[in-house]
Amino acid sequence: MTLLNIRIYPDPILKEEAAEVSDFDSKLSKLLDDMYDTMLAADGIGLAAPQIGISKKIAVIDISEDRDQRLELINPKIVWQDGQVPSEEGCLSIPQYRDKIKRFKEIKIEAHDRKGAKFELQSDGLLAICMQHEIDHLHGILFVDHLSRLKRELFKRWSKRNLEEI
Ligand code: ZN
Repeated sequence: MTLLNIRIYPDPILKEEAAEVSDFDSKLSKLLDDMYDTMLAADGIGLAAPQIGISKKIAVIDISEDRDQRLELINPKIVWQDGQVPSEEGCLSIPQYRDKIKRFKEIKIEAHDRKGAKFELQSDGLLAICMQHEIDHLHGILFVDHLSRLKRELFKRWSKRNLEEI
């Protein structure tokens, strides 16, 4: 098990559009395992590859209490969305900051598994929110980018004081 270093805002890799994965090989499997272990060690419910410095469309999620429902998303795409729901979020790349944004209530995604097989998944509630948060990461979007302009300014000031000295 290898724990990976989590990149912290404003690391520029967090703003990049990640590349599609085309090799579904043992290196990818090892990366997924390491990402999952890193996410659990950090007490997170989702982790996207750009957060560990790899700009590829890969994310792991586990919203279960018992940490035994691992979900791996490779090249995920939202293909359908409906409704709106308030969501209070945090992010492993923005430690100690939480704020409220809006998310779609229900989504359907298409993704590949670690072997390259395509699957679809429809969800609502926390899983749908978490998937939107992680898929955003793969497009260089952070949850704070969904804040109103004023709140984003406040966040930027907060982050200068609290994150840039880490
Ligand atoms: Zn995040």
